[in-house]
Amino acid sequence: MSHSDKLRSIVGLSSIDSAIIKQHSHELREALKEHQDAFEEWFYCKIEWPQDAPSPLLPGILESYLQGRYGDRFCATQYEQGIHWCRYGMEAEHALTAQGKLRQLFIGLAQSWEDKSLAGALCRVIDLSQAVQAIAFHVAHTLQRFRATAEHELARIRRSAKELDNIQRSGMVRAYADHYTWKIRAYSLALGEPMNHGDLPLSPDACALGVWLNHGGIDLVPTKEVEGFNAAHTRLHQLGTRILEEAKAGTPFNIVDYLIDMEAASDEITAVLSHIIDHELHHLITEDNLTHLGNRRLFETDIIRRVALAKRSGNGLGLLFIDIDHFKSVNDRFGHRVGDEILRSTTGRIVEILRMADNIYRWGGEEFATLVFVDSTAELEATAERLRTGFTEAPLLSSAGMIDITISVGGAFYDNNFNIENVATKLFHLADNNLHQAKKAGRNRVISSEIDYAPN
Ligand code: GH3
Ligand code: MG
Ligand code: MG
Repeated sequence: MSHSDKLRSIVGLSSIDSAIIKQHSHELREALKEHQDAFEEWFYCKIEWPQDAPSPLLPGILESYLQGRYGDRFCATQYEQGIHWCRYGMEAEHALTAQGKLRQLFIGLAQSWEDKSLAGALCRVIDLSQAVQAIAFHVAHTLQRFRATAEHELARIRRSAKELDNIQRSGMVRAYADHYTWKIRAYSLALGEPMNHGDLPLSPDACALGVWLNHGGIDLVPTKEVEGFNAAHTRLHQLGTRILEEAKAGTPFNIVDYLIDMEAASDEITAVLSHIIDHELHHLITEDNLTHLGNRRLFETDIIRRVALAKRSGNGLGLLFIDIDHFKSVNDRFGHRVGDEILRSTTGRIVEILRMADNIYRWGGEEFATLVFVDSTAELEATAERLRTGFTEAPLLSSAGMIDITISVGGAFYDNNFNIENVATKLFHLADNNLHQAKKAGRNRVISSEIDYAPN
């Protein structure tokens, strides 16, 4: 069912109505000639219309109501009249008023034949015309809203992306901007605005999004979203092709049929892209880029969360601070680059031993932190010992050969049966202090203890 079929059915305009009007069409048009000037005078007097604008009524528009044919062509003409009014700044309520005035005029004409069914039929034609014009106003307002927010929205995305300065991501931003702009273009084409060279390329592989996806961008799309995302992208291009065909044929009213689907597909795409950008930004803020562990910022938010979780769950919580012993001498002997390699292989060793990659953080420099669910200081200490011996048992691999390193570990344990305040801070200070003690006591050792539950 086309848009105009739907509208005709909603307003109840039947083929009988068309036949009645057609029967009187000639006399109606003759009678209209007598009233046309008065209507136009009323229009100029009541409705603001720019002085330098062309006539507010498109040629033949009043006659079109009286022809007895209310198919797609009639709707397209009414739509164009609506666009014309929008274009010169007429308000939607003024369009309604003008239609109301026409309704009175037509009822007056019908009454001269004392024909109620003719008056009713003409009123339904006006209803149809009002419904079509309301669509033109709606499209125009939506376009206005998109244009008003586009600048802000695109600036927001560009700003975020600046932080993510690598080429793959900047391709994504271009893809985002392209599709956002295209959504706006579809609305502007539906309003009969001229076509541009370089409107959406017809092939999904040729647009900025397609190029980015084919160059590895697809790997950033969450797996469970890939299928829907690709389908939305293909759909968008199919709709885009039809929209461009209608625009070329000069039939903007037909574009309206595609707008809702097109907007849904476009929103689906921009939502996923926007999510990827946010996700990448989150990573950038919370990830250490040498080791890819969580950074200190993430540690600080996670420890609060983990304490709350420990209080709710049946486990205690342990914090371990791990510091490489005499790391400066690794840099001094082998250079900073090898130092970096050792930081990465230290990470690998810790992850291997703990198998809890999500809860290991690079606290800074050559210091790491880890949050572990344990039930006692003894259990925490055993974990720390496993870590320490994990380093003494085998050297670390580097481009300068195998390098022996040792670590010192400071641990702090919280028993979740004690519901006290500031657990995170207490854990932190105690683990830090124990790490200092381990260093002072000669390094390559573990010192851990339970936090003090007495009020501060
Ligand atoms: P200690 O046993 O007392 O911990 O001695 P240390 O040498 O490990 O500790 P110190 O704090 O004296 O030195 C830490 C060194 O870690 C100094 C710094 O150059 C190095 N470092 C910190 N961050 C990095 C990094 O990202 N890469 C490299 N290669 N070295 C780093
Ligand atoms: Mg150190
Ligand atoms: Mg240190």
